[in-house]
Amino acid sequence: MQGRVHTPTWPGVIEAYRAFLPVTPQTPIVTLLEGNTPLVESVRLGPRLGLRLFFKLESANPTGSFKDRGMTVAVSKALEARCRAVVCASTGNTAASAAAYAARAGLLCLIILPAEGVAQGKLVQVFAHGARLVAVEGGFDAALAVTREVSERLGLALVNSLNPHRLEGQKTAAFEICDALGSAPDLLALPVGNAGNITAYWRGFVEYHAGGRITSRPRMLGVQAAGAAPLVDGRPVERPQTVASAIRIGNPASWQGAVTAVRESNGRFTKVSDEAILAAQKQLAAEEGLLVEPASAAGLAGLQQMAAAQPFNGETAVCILTGHGLKDPESLLRAGALPAPVTPTFDAVRRVIEPMVG
Ligand SMILES: *Cc1c(COP(=O)(O)O)cnc(C)c1O
Repeated sequence: MQGRVHTPTWPGVIEAYRAFLPVTPQTPIVTLLEGNTPLVESVRLGPRLGLRLFFKLESANPTGSFKDRGMTVAVSKALEARCRAVVCASTGNTAASAAAYAARAGLLCLIILPAEGVAQGKLVQVFAHGARLVAVEGGFDAALAVTREVSERLGLALVNSLNPHRLEGQKTAAFEICDALGSAPDLLALPVGNAGNITAYWRGFVEYHAGGRITSRPRMLGVQAAGAAPLVDGRPVERPQTVASAIRIGNPASWQGAVTAVRESNGRFTKVSDEAILAAQKQLAAEEGLLVEPASAAGLAGLQQMAAAQPFNGETAVCILTGHGLKDPESLLRAGALPAPVTPTFDAVRRVIEPMVG
């Protein structure tokens, strides 16, 4: 079966995959029609690696990252449970998504952010959707620890990926890939931070396989930044450092799920340098037309690293582009600056253009 077409009648991930999700006819569905994201075949970077490579554009979700897939389920369940507010810690995208879905549901949204390093675009989203913000000193791991305590002691719905409904929603991306390709890919590459997403994808492939919808399951390639690579190094990282703020996490909450995904799939974890991440980000933009935030380029950097060690042989791979490039403009500003203006006459403009077009 060739996948479903992109249509205005797409109902959002809960209605599309209701039978696989923890909802009942009584659950009020809070949706922004997330999901059904494009699976775009690579024209240059994949063939160069010896791969039939597809990019899953999770940046095309309503708030610009895959977090919306889980948030539609988590916020719907919070509303069903009559919670008075939702709360989360975040490196940015969970906050942006929670803020939007809470606004949609008419729920109060409380965000606990690490003061260090949340990208500008994500902060703008949080403010615009009217979420309430607490900044805490330190990094994400400390923010998550205090958020768990706040959620438990004040009785607020935690919508971090510790909330099992988040992962249930996120597994729908694996379903979409299989529906679009007509089978599972050989390899699935994605960035790993708190490790909820790799856990969710693996669950999706396992469920589709068990249900007879696919006959094989992909090898999972979990890619971390070299300065924030607890799953590669085998121990938590005290002060994680990387330009890729969405995966700047030293002690992933879904550690065990990620390890299981990699082990059961015969996959692997790998770490890539910030330079490799930024180079992959630039290649995606300049050679494929796909603008992503740094973390989202880690999957490609991981595939490139693997290919350098051992060439691929025509396998089908899917690389998850987790979040949009406009969320983190700072990371892109080195790409260029506005040139000095010239007089708006043909001659003046031609003088500038000639060396560009050769
Ligand atoms: C959340 C996020 C990740 C990391 O996903 P985990 O589930 O935390 O491993 C990667 N990229 C982007 C853009 C994200 O927002």
